[in-house]
Amino acid sequence: MDNIESGTENGRVQNELRKSKQGREQQTGSTNYINIENADKPREKCGVFAVFNNSGSGNAAIITYLGLLALQHRGQESAGMAYKGLRGIESTKGMGLVEQVFTRKALSAVESETAIGHVRYSTTGPSNAANAQPLVARSFDGSGIALAHNGNLTNTRRLYNAMLEEGHIFHSTSDTEIILTYIFRYRRHGLMQAVEKTMEKIEGAYAAVVYDGDKLVAFRDPNGYRPLVIGCLGESYFVASETAALDTVGASLLREVEPGEILQISSSGINSKVTSKSECNSLCIFEYVYFARPDSVINGANVHLVRKAIGALLAKRITYSLDMVVPSPDSGVSAAIGMAEALNIPLQWAVYRNPYLGRTFIEPTQSGRELAVRLKFNPIAEVIKGKKIAVVDDSLVRGTTARILTDMLKKMGAAEVHLCIASPPYRNPCYYGIDIPVARELAALGPDFDKLASSIGADSLTFAEPEDLFIAVGKDSCNYCTACFSGRYPG
Ligand code: SF4
Repeated sequence: MDNIESGTENGRVQNELRKSKQGREQQTGSTNYINIENADKPREKCGVFAVFNNSGSGNAAIITYLGLLALQHRGQESAGMAYKGLRGIESTKGMGLVEQVFTRKALSAVESETAIGHVRYSTTGPSNAANAQPLVARSFDGSGIALAHNGNLTNTRRLYNAMLEEGHIFHSTSDTEIILTYIFRYRRHGLMQAVEKTMEKIEGAYAAVVYDGDKLVAFRDPNGYRPLVIGCLGESYFVASETAALDTVGASLLREVEPGEILQISSSGINSKVTSKSECNSLCIFEYVYFARPDSVINGANVHLVRKAIGALLAKRITYSLDMVVPSPDSGVSAAIGMAEALNIPLQWAVYRNPYLGRTFIEPTQSGRELAVRLKFNPIAEVIKGKKIAVVDDSLVRGTTARILTDMLKKMGAAEVHLCIASPPYRNPCYYGIDIPVARELAALGPDFDKLASSIGADSLTFAEPEDLFIAVGKDSCNYCTACFSGRYPG
């Protein structure tokens, strides 16, 4: 989900809005911290989780809490869940991490057998409680629906203006409210049909769940940009952004929610309809590279093994001699293992990563990001002294982490530092639910990688090629969105 303003019809407007947002932040100090864990990474916007508990044996709120903890990496700014309470659909939401938003006492008091949950990371939109999800719409008779959405609509502005013309009063600045409003308007047709009619209106990326106190519906855009899976345990069903969340609650993976599919779960079982499907799927390939947990499985491929395979393919591009491979913790670990195995040289954990950092009050400026890297990493001089090192990371965004880490390694005595990136360079904006910095901040915008290596301070810089990613995931380019490095946006 994204800010209503940023759901623009073209890149120029989106970039302008991002710039103006940065300006507003500088003036108001509205975002006065960065998350040290991913200060120099592209950021996933959201994760969704839902449980439809048919067995009557568990508390849906506690199960959803566990599912959201498993998806915390997909959004750390707010968390929420919606369930059936005494007054119909109720919700608990707040700013912060899952463990900060929900108390065990409050969760234990919920008696609903079904719940939907959400973790959010905002990009161009304000990070505030009004935009925390699930969003809820209620009628005067007490009926209502709750919606949790991962993705980003691309025709938001048009739909937003149309709704304003119709007199709609927006309660949030999130494009998710547009989806919620359409489903709520059409709900007299039945929840599944309401979702179908809504999907005829909205464009872009969405993997979402909606709950009306009786039925749970999961739906995914026809391109399938963002992942969504369904699992089961006994008579209960689960929907989640990643299989790792199913594992956490002890559920077994049934299958992916297909692109364009509307899947309804009710006390009478599962009912599915695939509305429309694009000729090519457009799953975000960076789910494999960076966003998803390594223990998750997407489209039948384990994320850790895909990253390892990319590292092995990257090894084939190495033309110099090395003493060891060092992962940039923790994002480069899987690819580094693959590279070290392929080169038959040692993998050394030569960079300590402070595990006790997270949301820390550091300004989201370049100097703040540099401080974040120094707080996070410290190389082990005794391991690297005099050695020729390949440092492996999953991606290169601003280059801040790479530059500071290279500087640290060289100051501690590394003979050579070669930077190996297990993905192609980011060059284009993402309109489908990922926060990538504006173009002028991207390190690898130009074609001269030797110049970039020397500006980072590395002895060389090697990127994985797009075909490495396709080989590693085992499917051709027709199955993935690659727009942020190829510039080819799905139709
Ligand atoms: S543009 Fe890049 S980050 Fe965005 S969905 Fe496509 S591959 Fe993923």
